[in-house]
Amino acid sequence: MKLETMAIHMGQTPDPTTGAVIPPIHLSTTFERAEDGSFPQGYIYTRLGNPNRTMLEECLAALEGGAECAAFSSGQAAAMSVFQTLRPGDHVVAPDDAYHGVTRLLRELMTTWGVEYTLVDMNDPANVQAALRPNTRLVWMETPSNPLLKVADIAAVAAIAHAAGALCAVDNTWATPILQRPLDLGADLVIHATTKYLGGHSDVLGGAVIGREVGPVWERLRFLQANGGAVPSPFDCWLILRGVRTLAYRMRAHCAHASQIAGFLAQHPQIEAVHYPGLPDHPGHGVAARQMRDFGGMLSIQVRGGEAAAMRVAARVKIFTRATSLGGAESLIEHRASVEGPHSTTPANLLRLAVGLEHPDDLLADLEQALVFD
Ligand SMILES: *Cc1c(COP(=O)(O)O)cnc(C)c1O
Repeated sequence: MKLETMAIHMGQTPDPTTGAVIPPIHLSTTFERAEDGSFPQGYIYTRLGNPNRTMLEECLAALEGGAECAAFSSGQAAAMSVFQTLRPGDHVVAPDDAYHGVTRLLRELMTTWGVEYTLVDMNDPANVQAALRPNTRLVWMETPSNPLLKVADIAAVAAIAHAAGALCAVDNTWATPILQRPLDLGADLVIHATTKYLGGHSDVLGGAVIGREVGPVWERLRFLQANGGAVPSPFDCWLILRGVRTLAYRMRAHCAHASQIAGFLAQHPQIEAVHYPGLPDHPGHGVAARQMRDFGGMLSIQVRGGEAAAMRVAARVKIFTRATSLGGAESLIEHRASVEGPHSTTPANLLRLAVGLEHPDDLLADLEQALVFD
């Protein structure tokens, strides 16, 4: 079955009791036992499992080609749960350009739990190899990366991780399974902030982890989901699944618009650099072309004239909204260094663009007028 069809049908069937084509929202926190004490439908208590969560998890597992999915209340909760499968003394290799919240979990929380980590530039898989230690248990990837759109070779890095006896986890939030399926390339776990493209409408927070197989690590992750308790509400699951149904078609437009905007900005005299893997001169273009179906809806630019010039562009846009996040219908622009805080290594003249679903002509015209300096 193709991804477009899976997104609409996996985990989702008309409601057997009412015939409702769109699933009802099961708000009940508790489920009745049969006379013999069993739970005939398999549900006991909503923290442990809920029909809306099951529907979402089945659909996301199918889209990523995994055995199972565990849904969480945010992308951060999903990442944290993966890190909590580690033991004190374990070591993690992660990208130097990962989502700043994920790096913060390693720096501020996992170190107090006794987990060590090394951040490397994953543009070159040799850097991962060089960072391995005897206690490395996890190689965390994010590709394309945030906010520099670095591209890492998933198959190469997963092979390096496996040879060292470590798992390979990929944050696939930016690419989504429509553009990239890390498990097919050898990864063991896929992480999503479903808050972004999967939800697709900037109105729900969520996270997910998809596992290639069910083994001891997966059992521990399920334990963390059920007992750590960072689970999404039934309504959140319903909203995310509603978004997922149109994901494939939204991604086509996000990619087409971003590619048009990247091409325009690459020629613009006020722009010093455009970071978009779809551009032929992007250092990760070849790997991205091989491992992705298209290049995504995110790009970042460096504006000539430093931070002040970048701030001026952000101040002048009218259709792009100055806000963080991505994956909704609306285009967003953001000065990343100011959001990332004191540990940020992001260039001060960098703006990140989350290209939305407005007509690309309007987006181009908006950027064109914002880049006219008088
Ligand atoms: C937003 C984001 C996260 C964190 O997700 P939340 O739902 O905000 O907790 C993690 N990784 C990436 C790549 C993201 O864009």
